[in-house]
Amino acid sequence: MEYQGSFYRDTWVEIDLNHIEDNLKSIKKLLPNEVEMIAVVKANAYGHGDIQTAEAALRAGASMLAVAFMDEAIALRRKGITAPILVLGASRPEDINVAAELNLTLTVFQEEWIVKAAGILKPELEISVHIKVDTGMNRIGVGTRDELRKLEASITNNRQIRMEGIYTHFATADELDLSYSGEQLERFNDLLGVLDNLPRYIHSSNSAAAIRFPEAHFNAVRVGIAMYGLTPSLEIAAQLPIALKEAFSLHSRLVHVKKINKGEKVSYGATYEAAEDEWIGTLPIGYADGWIRKLQGQDVLVEGRRVPIVGRICMDQCMVKLPSYVPVGTNCTLIGSQKAETISINEIASKLETINYEIPCMISNRVPRIFKQNGKMLAINNPLLT
Ligand SMILES: *Cc1c(COP(=O)(O)O)cnc(C)c1O
Repeated sequence: MEYQGSFYRDTWVEIDLNHIEDNLKSIKKLLPNEVEMIAVVKANAYGHGDIQTAEAALRAGASMLAVAFMDEAIALRRKGITAPILVLGASRPEDINVAAELNLTLTVFQEEWIVKAAGILKPELEISVHIKVDTGMNRIGVGTRDELRKLEASITNNRQIRMEGIYTHFATADELDLSYSGEQLERFNDLLGVLDNLPRYIHSSNSAAAIRFPEAHFNAVRVGIAMYGLTPSLEIAAQLPIALKEAFSLHSRLVHVKKINKGEKVSYGATYEAAEDEWIGTLPIGYADGWIRKLQGQDVLVEGRRVPIVGRICMDQCMVKLPSYVPVGTNCTLIGSQKAETISINEIASKLETINYEIPCMISNRVPRIFKQNGKMLAINNPLLT
């Protein structure tokens, strides 16, 4: 029996790879020719699926990938990705040989780290690093001219460690007011001034800055959220010069439909009471799939109409109130479009009082991802059966 590439529950995510490619191509058009795109595919490509997204991004013209930590980079290498991969977060000096053997590019920001890692790196290996500069985010990065000078010197002194890049990260590039980003840019330029040699890659922009802050382009930009078709923030949504296309949609099917009498209760706690005789449908998705209990009351789409989730969301299932009888097996869209109706990721984010970034990330590994390209199904990724 062949289980791999299959799934046995009627709940799935669809990823439109054409949309990912189109979004990156639209961003590329906004950039001067010499500015390269680094596609940020951390967190399983923001929940979209790392390998398929990475391949789509490379097809669309990205020249490098970026992830948060080494395990994510190793996962991509194991799946056959040979393109450069930058690890954006902190790595341990003890792990430098693994990184070097897999040709991963690490982020560095402490002189002591270089000293320690240099003592561990096997003599036959080499590694590329990018220096992270802290210009106002206060997360990771070297923050002073003096520290940066020492860090550059310690890298330059080691023939096996190549300084391939230097970068910083904006805290507020998605806000209408770009003054704090301007201050960060000024600090970055000032710190670049202390280097004896400028490295191959200089980059500072996330999606928001790549799209709306050309002064910060340097020679590469790191594109995450916009590649997935999502606006970096609601406040700049209206002024984006390109139309982004959402790649992620979430689907399920009614597995049970029944009429309940006025006064009957639904789900745990019996908190929902039918105000009249009502049609109730059951969907096989729950909080263990990332469809969290706070989404009680949220609409889903059935036959192109909005219907609300009623009663508490269970671990694996939830119930919706249908306007009339609908057959078992009917498709239901929790994120995405049916006929003229759309439930966007932004709508779910607003219901949960959070940002759109969090929504595809929170749809768990239990939900298989189906990848579509040119209207055809390209692959199914179901980590449970892989
Ligand atoms: C996640 C991340 C990005 C991507 O940001 P988006 O807003 O999703 O484009 C870029 N740079 C760093 C350092 C990040 O951690």
